[in-house]
Amino acid sequence: MNKDTSHFATKAIHAGQEPDPTTGAIMTPIYQTSTYVQEYPGKHKGYAYARGKNPTRSALENCIAALENAEFGLCFSSGQGASDAIIKMLRPGDEVIATNDLYGGSYRMFTKIFEPFGIKFHFVNMYDAKNIRNFINANTKMLWVETPTNPTMQIIDIKACAKISKENNLIFVVDNTFASPYLQNPLDLGADIVMHSVTKYLGGHSDVVMGATVTNNKDYHEKLAFIHNSCGATPGPMDSFLVLRGIKTLHVRMDRHCQNGKVIAEYLKAHPKVDKIYWPGFPDHPNHDIAKSQMRDFGGMISFTLKNATVEETFAMASKVRVFCLAESLGGVESLLNHPATMTHASIPKEEREKAGVTDTLIRLSVGIEDINDLIADLKQAIG
Ligand SMILES: *Cc1c(COP(=O)(O)O)cnc(C)c1O
Repeated sequence: MNKDTSHFATKAIHAGQEPDPTTGAIMTPIYQTSTYVQEYPGKHKGYAYARGKNPTRSALENCIAALENAEFGLCFSSGQGASDAIIKMLRPGDEVIATNDLYGGSYRMFTKIFEPFGIKFHFVNMYDAKNIRNFINANTKMLWVETPTNPTMQIIDIKACAKISKENNLIFVVDNTFASPYLQNPLDLGADIVMHSVTKYLGGHSDVVMGATVTNNKDYHEKLAFIHNSCGATPGPMDSFLVLRGIKTLHVRMDRHCQNGKVIAEYLKAHPKVDKIYWPGFPDHPNHDIAKSQMRDFGGMISFTLKNATVEETFAMASKVRVFCLAESLGGVESLLNHPATMTHASIPKEEREKAGVTDTLIRLSVGIEDINDLIADLKQAIG
């Protein structure tokens, strides 16, 4: 696929999609089929069996690749399916250096599924990218970075990580779920592979679970595509259609997520009952300057704790919200409130969690695109 050079909003609506050649339908049809008829054995239109390829999915893969300025894209049946395929590029004895403040499911998969197969993981504080160098040895093959981190919104310097990766021949992977391609394009900053939980901002409507990988490296793409088809974590055409539709408003949604996020972050920061607050848009955020240089805006993800609050008091506040919904996940149009220690990050041992700042009283918000006055009023009545 050739690179699409149009601007983001145009790509979000058109990239990878052509009117249907048989009917002129402007929307890519949902090709609900498992197989394709061949003219004679081996002669077909590029589609043989739908685990390998489906036209609705191909349109989506090309669209997401275009949004990340990538040549190649693949969609998976979940973000975890995408991460699983990336780690399967490695072999027993290989080592991975990963961000310490990591999505809980990634941590669980790395330690519980892949460590028993002989792949070793180091979980490293990357606030200063130089820390990474202390963990590199002859077996190190991959650098896995999540930024902003989940849930403490640390910012990791993608360019500095790319430099370290190049010097040491590592495959540099960025989980770009939190920023979305609208706010950050890691491949442009030197990453080799970007993965997404498409479930979040890309899908955007809390109705699909999906993942994606994009890259400009043909060899990595071919390895991933081989694993994709061989292992089979591929999404169906209906879900692909829903995400194609969701992405058409990604830029508009993201602008509102950022706008509402800023108002709420500032409201919480000024609130006398709020103790710690994590949002990369504050000038006193430890890596604010890096955030400013590698992101277009700061997003709608915010974490905070209440002053001197016990776990019970934190839970009481969390169950008082009425516009925010108490739920896992993020990136949908609805505002969500999450308690990482018991919800998204429950699979990380308490000691590891707390080292990364994920205490039992930490609350994470995914600020949606409702009316800001209703969101503020809701927090006001819940926090008191
Ligand atoms: C949700 C999430 C994942 C996992 O994606 P699923 O679609 O739930 O499988 C990976 N990374 C991050 C940062 C996430 O938020």
